Amino acid sequence: MSARRKKGFVIAIDGPAGVGKSTIGTNVAKELGYRFINTGEMYRALTWKALEEGVDVTDGAALTKLAERLDWDFRANEDGVIIRTYIDGAPVTTQIREERVGMNSSTVAGVPGVRKKLRALQRGLGEQGGIVMEGRDITTVVFPDADFKVYLDASIDERARRRTKQLRNAGKPADLEKIRESIVKRDMQDLQRRINPLRQAEDAVVIDSTDLTMLEVSQKILDLVAERERGRK
Ligand code: C5P
Repeated sequence: MSARRKKGFVIAIDGPAGVGKSTIGTNVAKELGYRFINTGEMYRALTWKALEEGVDVTDGAALTKLAERLDWDFRANEDGVIIRTYIDGAPVTTQIREERVGMNSSTVAGVPGVRKKLRALQRGLGEQGGIVMEGRDITTVVFPDADFKVYLDASIDERARRRTKQLRNAGKPADLEKIRESIVKRDMQDLQRRINPLRQAEDAVVIDSTDLTMLEVSQKILDLVAERERGRK
């Protein structure tokens, strides 16, 4: 265990939309008895609130004010693994999954003041360790000193297929071509934005999951952790 962190390692995972970061991160956290945090939820929560309140999602000053004014809270779900975002006392888990929220969230995430506020919250949640945190800038900006840095990738077609299947399994309508288009658009926005774009940290382990199952990818990460622990004994 890291000498600096009381509760265990910080495992940081980045990667593009629909690559399986949450499924894999949750598996890994469960196995290790860690907490899992999906930081995209925070950007989505702010975006949802802005849309609800009629705040212009291109108005950086208004979004920063909103992010600072909200009462942010993070609570574990029933099994104690997944940390969910609450704003002003209420969970936002369902409403933040709407497509309009997903698309607008990458515009909201381009605002420096918003990133600063959410970065501070994310660091606060992970500073004691014992955490798997995923997003777009966790390995590069939020926890550049994470104990493990993983960059997950998969082809666009495979990511679109997975997202479509996930939605259909949840009983929701899903059009593969439309989903593919929205993934391409979000990739572009996340890779090309000026502030904290998605990129591979130089020292990240890159895992291409196109031809792997979620369990196989999770196991690869758990193997890295086990190897480090063996080396310490
Ligand atoms: O992970 P998810 O797709 O739910 O994230 C929604 C959006 O939030 C992303 O498209 C990205 O623009 C933004 N995001 C970010 N930095 C993070 C996590 C998410 O910019 N650490």
